[in-house]
Amino acid sequence: MTKRVSVVGAKGRMGATVVDAVENAPDTKLALALDAGDDLTQITPDNTDVAVEFTVPAASLGNVLTLIGQGVDVVVGTTGWTDEKLAQVREALADHPDVSVFIAPNFAISTVLAESFAAQAAKYFESVEIVEMHHPNKVDAPSGTAIHTAHAIAAARKAADMAPIPDNTQTDGGSRGQVVDGIHVHAVRLRGLNAHEEVLFGNPGEQLVLRADSFDRSSFMPGVLLAVRHAGDKPGEVTVGLDAYLDL
Ligand code: NAP
Repeated sequence: MTKRVSVVGAKGRMGATVVDAVENAPDTKLALALDAGDDLTQITPDNTDVAVEFTVPAASLGNVLTLIGQGVDVVVGTTGWTDEKLAQVREALADHPDVSVFIAPNFAISTVLAESFAAQAAKYFESVEIVEMHHPNKVDAPSGTAIHTAHAIAAARKAADMAPIPDNTQTDGGSRGQVVDGIHVHAVRLRGLNAHEEVLFGNPGEQLVLRADSFDRSSFMPGVLLAVRHAGDKPGEVTVGLDAYLDL
């Protein structure tokens, strides 16, 4: 079935890439392409099956609540979601049990898989460190994705009752990186890079390296289209994270 997709934030970098992806996928069709200042109540079940929202954190919650009120499923890529904001979405969905909302902090399938594989590998290795590498325009460090990966690894190590990671460093002027949940996370900012993450696992005599590279915005589109195809699977619910659809 061809899904009619409206894009909110369509003039932005991600939104414009989504417009292209939706126009070029065999099973999706562009409905409306709206941006700041446009009236989102133009989006209705008569013209749209799924609305994809990539705007700014300050606007995203309001947009999602409007779209829920319009009765269309929503796929959200905008960052900045908190438990409080999610609670407001759940409250709105209680009045619209036929509508679903999906939110992914990261739509890159390689990154989501790398994190899942890292959590799986964690209990088998004494040592683990994360190196995330990004373009120098990024304002936060370490990346949200690296922090999320560190928490996932730490949870797996804790569940396996593992000893702390061995490290005999006596002097550290910062070169050992930030410690997130017991895991050292290093951030590199280098012109020419986009978004890259390595998880290094070590044991006596062996090493495993998991690496995910997002070279450009097209890396997010297979994940966005996957979410669009699954939109409506869980009416009345908000689903967070692409792993929900990756059969892991
Ligand atoms: P961007 O280029 O600044 O685009 C945002 C667009 O949204 C702009 O065209 C902006 O218009 C528009 N906008 C602002 N307020 C709006 C409103 N109330 N209603 C409708 N449109 C509105 O940003 P981007 O690089 O595309 O990133 C968008 C978001 O996606 C960010 O939060 C970013 O962190 C996130 N992101 C997520 C992923 C992921 O995998 N989940 C990947 C990359 C980026 P004006 O410029 O006129 O204000």
